[in-house]
Amino acid sequence: MFELDDTQRAFETAVRGWCERELAPAVPALESGERLPYELLRSLGTDLGVAELLTAMGEARLARLSAPAASKGMRSDADPTTPTQLGGDPLLTSVLLKEISRVSPGVALVLISTLGCAMTILERGTAALVERYALPLLRFEKIGAWALTEPGAGSDAFGGMQTRAVVEGDALVLSGQKTFISNAPHADLFAIYARVVRSEGEPVVRPVLVERGTAGLETGPPLRKMGMHDAPTGEIFLHACRVPRANLLGSLGEPTQARGGPALQTLNLERSVMPAMCLGIIERCVEESVSYAKERRQFGRAIAEFQGIAFKLARMELALENARNLVLKLAWAQREGKLDARLASLAKLYCAEQAVAVSLAAIQVHGGAGYMAELPLEKLMRDAKMFEIGGGTNEIQLQTIARSILS
Ligand SMILES: Cc1cc2nc3c(=O)[nH]c(=O)nc-3n(C[C@H](O)[C@H](O)[C@H](O)COP(=O)(O)OP(=O)(O)OC[C@H]3O[C@@H](n4cnc5c(N)ncnc54)[C@H](O)[C@@H]3O)c2cc1C
Repeated sequence: MFELDDTQRAFETAVRGWCERELAPAVPALESGERLPYELLRSLGTDLGVAELLTAMGEARLARLSAPAASKGMRSDADPTTPTQLGGDPLLTSVLLKEISRVSPGVALVLISTLGCAMTILERGTAALVERYALPLLRFEKIGAWALTEPGAGSDAFGGMQTRAVVEGDALVLSGQKTFISNAPHADLFAIYARVVRSEGEPVVRPVLVERGTAGLETGPPLRKMGMHDAPTGEIFLHACRVPRANLLGSLGEPTQARGGPALQTLNLERSVMPAMCLGIIERCVEESVSYAKERRQFGRAIAEFQGIAFKLARMELALENARNLVLKLAWAQREGKLDARLASLAKLYCAEQAVAVSLAAIQVHGGAGYMAELPLEKLMRDAKMFEIGGGTNEIQLQTIARSILS
């Protein structure tokens, strides 16, 4: 439980090697926008066998959906339903995201966003939708986006949602707008949450699949932002956008669940993978800082010999240990089917706060050099801030934790 086994360690070594060889040299071009992350994502999928593992999972899901009704209730270990269990082991996903995030948290964000779209289909889609849409995403042949946030509906994404889908015969007609959506400027496929108007009863919030190129769907240019420059973020505009009714994920007959229902499953999973991304930032910052503090000399001695610096490093190490333990616990909880909103929010909140605090401390340890773009620290700090907002803000995580312990 407290350390990686041989298989996980070997995977970590392979991913680190790939990131040093392929990803690190590409970061300046990704940061400036000269290069997009998607072709790198495809190489990652192929070179590290990630696409193969994900596709096997999608195919297992497809087989299960296509199986006769009597055998559908039987679930085997080889049939995890979510891409957060790479090869049936959630810790492999954590290792993958941690290693990518040591170099480029943005590329990890691009990856989880496309998988978020795939996962929504795997969880709620028919066999036909899984085959047509989820498998190409899992092979990284197509890129997906997962679109919940709107200009007027962020933390209150469900209560404030304005995007509407109206059933017209065999079609759904969508109108509305989404914003701050990862991959939106370049995605091939969008899982868009909309308030679906039914002939009877209250509207229900459901994800609907929309392909790029569908009349009535437009995306804006990449938004300029503080960090995560290697993960394009943008808006989606829907003007009477007509898609087949079969693109609706989930049935309209199901009762509306309080506070988000199906989207919360994806949000909990997003919250449960983000701590591994924060861990990558923390781990890299601690390593860089310890080594710099031992080398850098001022006043005739290594700066590590000053208690002010040594104590800072000790606190950074404490955050690293705690974050690592939370990531291990999350993987254990996922494997045991014990992942709940409390644990996902608690881990996401702690790891996001520590990624910001540790990256700022790392810059301080490095002095002027830490502030310069030549070192990875200022980028990691700008990227770290996203984790206190995306996937639900710190305040919303606190609210979720409080609600779960007080209920
Ligand atoms: C880089 C990036 C990528 C993103 N990618 C995606 C994506 O792929 N898909 C997607 O759907 N969304 C995405 N988001 C959107 C993100 O999930 C939202 O920004 C986030 O949920 C917060 O919503 P908001 O920005 O509207 O802030 P608001 O909800 O307006 O919040 C503003 C402030 O008020 C606080 N607040 C709000 N309600 C409460 C409350 N009840 N109690 C206390 N404080 C409260 C918030 O914590 C925050 O501090 C992304 C965001 C970023 C920055």
